[in-house]
Amino acid sequence: TPVIGVLALQGDVREHLVALAEADALARPVRRPEELAEIDALVIPGGESTTMSKLALLFGVMEPLRARVAAGMPVYGTCAGMIMLADKILDGRDDQETVGGIDMVVRRNAFGRQNESFEQGVAFTGLEGGDVHGVFIRAPWVESVGAGVEILASLHEGTEAEHIVAVRQGNLLATSFHPELTGDHRVHAFFVEMVRAVSHGG
Ligand code: GLN
Repeated sequence: TPVIGVLALQGDVREHLVALAEADALARPVRRPEELAEIDALVIPGGESTTMSKLALLFGVMEPLRARVAAGMPVYGTCAGMIMLADKILDGRDDQETVGGIDMVVRRNAFGRQNESFEQGVAFTGLEGGDVHGVFIRAPWVESVGAGVEILASLHEGTEAEHIVAVRQGNLLATSFHPELTGDHRVHAFFVEMVRAVSHGG
C-alpha cells in the first residue's frame, strides 16, 4: 500500500487525508523536510498558494520537494496545489515561487469576480462513471501547456475558447477543482493508481 503525504503547511489537508484513505492509500500529513523522505507520493492541497509558497520556503521543504519531483515522485495538486506545480504562473505575487514540474502556464484566480466560486460537471479523460463534480473556489486555470502535457479536462464557456482545468505530465497530476470536497474519490483513486504503477516499475 503506497504511503501518500499531504503537504500540511496550509489548506484543506484533512479532506485530502480522508479521500486518500478511502482510495486505499496510507495517508499522512507532511510538514518537515525529513518527512518528505518517508513518503511514496504527495498531495498538495487547495488553499492559498502565496502563503503555501512562503511557508514552504520558511520550513525548508521547497528545495527537497523540487528534488523529489525531479527524481520522479508522483505529486497531485488541487487548486493552490496546481499553482504550486506550474513551471510558470500569471497574476502571482512578485516574490511567489512554485515547486514547478509541469510545463504549463497557470493563471491564478482566473475565473473572474462574477464567477469566483461555482460548481460544474467536468468530463475527465480516463475516469469511468460519468462527469466529476467540479468544485471551483477562486480557482486557477491552465493558460497553456507544453508538448509533454496531457490535457485531462477542459471547461467551455459558451462558444468561447476552452479553459484547461486538469492536466498530467508524467507522474504529476493537477486539477483546478477540489475532488476532495465532493465525497467522490475517483480522481484520488486515479492518482493512487499512478503511484502504484511507479512503485511497481510500470
Ligand atoms: N486562489 C488561491 C490561490 O491563488 C487558490 C484557491 C484554492 O486553492 N481554492 O492560491
